[in-house]
Amino acid sequence: MNEIAANATTAVETKDSAEPVPGHARHARKEIVVAAVGDLLMKPLLIRTVRTSSPAKGDAAYAFDQVFEPVARYLREADLTIGNLETTFSGGTDERSYTTTIRNPKNRNPVFNCPDAFAPALKAAGFGVLATANNHCMDYGVRGLKRTLEVLDKHGIAHVGTYRGNEESRSLCIRNVEGIRVGILSYTRGTNGVPVPKGQPAGVKKIVPSLIKKQMKRLRAKSDFIIVCMHFGSEYHRRPNAGQKRMVRFLFRQGADVILGAHPHVLQPAVCRSVTDIDGRTRKRFAIYSLGNFISTRLHGKDAALTGLILRLTIRGTAGGSAELSKVDFIPTWVSLAKNGKRTRCRVVPLPRALQEPNGYASGQANRMRRAYRGTVLLYKGVMSPHGESPSG
Ligand SMILES: [Zn+2]
Repeated sequence: MNEIAANATTAVETKDSAEPVPGHARHARKEIVVAAVGDLLMKPLLIRTVRTSSPAKGDAAYAFDQVFEPVARYLREADLTIGNLETTFSGGTDERSYTTTIRNPKNRNPVFNCPDAFAPALKAAGFGVLATANNHCMDYGVRGLKRTLEVLDKHGIAHVGTYRGNEESRSLCIRNVEGIRVGILSYTRGTNGVPVPKGQPAGVKKIVPSLIKKQMKRLRAKSDFIIVCMHFGSEYHRRPNAGQKRMVRFLFRQGADVILGAHPHVLQPAVCRSVTDIDGRTRKRFAIYSLGNFISTRLHGKDAALTGLILRLTIRGTAGGSAELSKVDFIPTWVSLAKNGKRTRCRVVPLPRALQEPNGYASGQANRMRRAYRGTVLLYKGVMSPHGESPSG
């Protein structure tokens, strides 16, 4: 059990409650670390690699824990860990919805469904909050969207971005982490051509500036530090587009301390600037345009789709009862897919540590991992540095 996550109480507040969480002295500790990763893209191939029993009649079992085993210590040692759940827990008895590529008959987009067993594996790996506003949240309709939240609730993982009704839509996700109130928002540009039906109380937070403005205002009044998860940008583009840049400037002005981009499936640059928000607060603010994939297959034969990172945000409580970003660093990661006899073995590995023992990987893969490591470090040079140990050679 993650001792730190256990200490982080979830304060899902409705409209009018701004009370501090009882039993928590404000800013009892000076510094906390929030970790964040990009897309948890559970493609059918990955789900097949962790299937441990026959798929007969929907009773297949899955061992998802092993996939995160090499990185779990980094996710667990943070005080709070955030990821983007780019799949659904839509359930169903047809095992093929998990393990084969199913497409929306209308627009041919792939639709994602993942066995519920992934949720406890995410919890055990250290995830405390998942952003659910993304282009796949409506893959199995409103029913799938709602069921996904029920599964996350059941396993004690907080979520933000999608909602089952009006009350949940209005609630703010605020985590009290060692006395620092971290507010988290999540928005998506679209839902892959599957709109939420009109008049439906359930739904997803879309990128609509006027709505974001309102929600940010409420959150500024109730939190010390604001993180906004944005599902935006163009897939496989290595650079942010003009819309992403505009949105980052807008969010900084609205008081976002940190912006976590996702969706392009590859890493994009990061920026760190001192920005004065509309309340007149000047702070150091950080945005990464895309965190890349944390777990995925090698989409379109691109190693960039296997390359990701664990972002580490060090946040310091300030004397005025607020908090500010004091440091950002990262651990480059890689999705290792290796043939083991007939089976493919999938692991998310921390690159610095993995490259200290490259013999564990076929030479072709070790070389690709070295390139991924160098490329990632270069991409963020001048903005943030790798955390901890570095690979030799
Ligand atoms: Zn996406």
